[in-house]
Amino acid sequence: KMNKDLGQHILKNPGVASAIVAKANLKQSDHVLEVGPGTGNLTVLILKEAKSVTAVEMDPRMAAELTKRVQGKPEEKRLKILLGDVIKTQLPHFDVCISNTPYQISSPLVFKLLSLPQPPRSCVLMFQREFALRLFAQPGSKLYSRLSVNVQMWAKVTHVMKVGKNNFNPPPMVESNVVRIEPKFPRPQISYEEWDGLLRICFNRKNKTLRANFVGTTVVLDMLERNYRLWCSQNDIPVDDSPMGDGEGEAEDMDVDTMEDDDEFNGFSEPDEDDELPDFFKQAQAEQAARRQKGSGRKKRGRVYELVREKVRKVLEDVTDLADKRAQKCEEGDFLKLLYAFNQEGIHFS
Ligand code: SAM
Repeated sequence: KMNKDLGQHILKNPGVASAIVAKANLKQSDHVLEVGPGTGNLTVLILKEAKSVTAVEMDPRMAAELTKRVQGKPEEKRLKILLGDVIKTQLPHFDVCISNTPYQISSPLVFKLLSLPQPPRSCVLMFQREFALRLFAQPGSKLYSRLSVNVQMWAKVTHVMKVGKNNFNPPPMVESNVVRIEPKFPRPQISYEEWDGLLRICFNRKNKTLRANFVGTTVVLDMLERNYRLWCSQNDIPVDDSPMGDGEGEAEDMDVDTMEDDDEFNGFSEPDEDDELPDFFKQAQAEQAARRQKGSGRKKRGRVYELVREKVRKVLEDVTDLADKRAQKCEEGDFLKLLYAFNQEGIHFS
């Protein structure tokens, strides 16, 4: 019996299996990583074209079946099965990754592959259609998201083919697509945490302007203030924490163009499984909502908060002129410009 939680959908169409392996352009010298080999329909084809295969499988029954399939054959020595969760497994070096991916690990798997110290030459991976389309979505497309910008920073993503659900046993609920992910080499010299931290804010509400996402809520500015203080202390830069005079610091979060978004913001409209809000957003949003319900006044902010807000305004309006643009329409170059300009001001996202 199939274990539903492990996303066990065996490819039953041999034509699709050979097409996937063909699209990997394997060389006889290649070491291949296969994630979730299942009963080995892809594995036996890969073994014909590559030097060796490391297959990581979580289900011992599947691993046993695969072991049986190659037992006593010459391929046996070129296949190594690692039993366990691929996300938690330390991976050996490999040139190419091929997988009919268990869909519940799509996002962590992609980021694990892209953050390896020696990323592979190429990955040919089957994903649920929605996820696959987001991987290569371009600015302006409805599917363009944090995931798209993130992955495309580190890799070239291309569409390989569509695969209908009836090619699997049992058929999954969703349609699938195969994509090729080729990590950029050398890796762009940019911090993953900074890049992702910036994107989390920009795409928090991806149809809103960047101004709205940065200064339309105190949550983001509070976080940027904390990061700024940390950065100052690490760089021996004194911060002015003298108390604010009467009236100073009162106007916070009132002078922005987004008050009409408040309900949506607190209601977590269209949660997006891979663009999940980071914890600090959720927590702070909940706190904000609670304060509003109690009708209590808002927390008074200080000089450093005001300074950070002015820096953010300056970057968005004067330096990059991107304040009125929406993340949905921003290209990679826009995000790079933003990150550079913020970092120049001592504003960091991690
Ligand atoms: N490769 C086979 C095929 O194409 O016929 C099976 C693919 S099936 C969609 C996904 C496989 O991944 C299953 O064998 C499942 O047991 C395994 N799996 C699920 N979660 C896993 C994880 N976290 N790490 C490694 N393998 C996993």
